[in-house]
Amino acid sequence: ATPTALMVGTGRGAQLGILIKGPEVLENTRRADTVVLDKTGTVTTGRMTLLAVRTAGGEDEEEVLRLAGGLEHASEHPVARAVAAGAAARVGDLPSPAEFANIPGLGVRGVVDGRDVLVGRARLLRDRSVALPAELAAARDEAEGAGRTVVAVAWDGRARALLEVADAVRDTSTEAVRRLRDLGLTPVLLTGDNAAVAEAVAAEVGIDEVVAEVLPEDKVDVVKRLQAEGRSVAMVGDGVNDAAALAQADLGLAMGTGTDAAMEAGDLTLVRGDLRVAADAIRLSRRTLATIK
Ligand code: ADP
Ligand code: MG
Repeated sequence: ATPTALMVGTGRGAQLGILIKGPEVLENTRRADTVVLDKTGTVTTGRMTLLAVRTAGGEDEEEVLRLAGGLEHASEHPVARAVAAGAAARVGDLPSPAEFANIPGLGVRGVVDGRDVLVGRARLLRDRSVALPAELAAARDEAEGAGRTVVAVAWDGRARALLEVADAVRDTSTEAVRRLRDLGLTPVLLTGDNAAVAEAVAAEVGIDEVVAEVLPEDKVDVVKRLQAEGRSVAMVGDGVNDAAALAQADLGLAMGTGTDAAMEAGDLTLVRGDLRVAADAIRLSRRTLATIK
């Protein structure tokens, strides 16, 4: 009877929009008491928009957008897409970078129109000894306090501007968090984004535990740390950044709207990218197991 019950479970899963890697996955749903949720692309849509540009020292805004947009055009990161699209809308054709490097979790670096350009977190600039002028630092704190993601633009060793981007919380996320709590899971928000933005999103969807400013390679350590505390961890993510953490988690759930790397690493895929289905998946698996016993 056992194999039949498992087949029923996985078949019902497909109807709900859940792809289950194998029947053995169901076992891991039983103990999960913590659910780690990636922010960008999982709790939020990941479709960001460029909202504002703030320049320093009389820098030309169009020049900032041309150079930053040209560089970000070569990156697939949600922040990069927002910057490139916003810049193209304002200034038209963007120059192609002669050199390009992606610095995961921090930003991008490259050569555009003969300028050595950086776009990313303040830390990216700091690591390269580029200071953020006081007027830009104050503007950044204000924008982050309002829940916006802020990246700095620098070239030839000087910070020139800030770009403010934001994406929207998915309209299903608040309901999803409530359903996950109803199943006895404690939600934790995990992100590489800054703490102020993370806190704003967490408050909006009803999450109390936040781990922010985590570099991509360190996300897996956050899962390990929770496991070391004796917690059984389900993780939901969408990005290449999330793959190792999804594999480390006791139960990995990948957003079907995300990257292939995440789906390959996960035990389950939420086909439509609806986070509420994560709760459905856990409830269904537990019920299927109860039927088997
Ligand atoms: P998350 O964990 O929320 O999915 P990431 O780890 O991918 O986010 O990125 C963390 C932060 O690094 C972003 O919020 C952004 O500030 C910065 N960043 C990463 N990639 C880029 C990029 N291509 N351009 C600008 N900023 C970037
Ligand atoms: Mg993400």
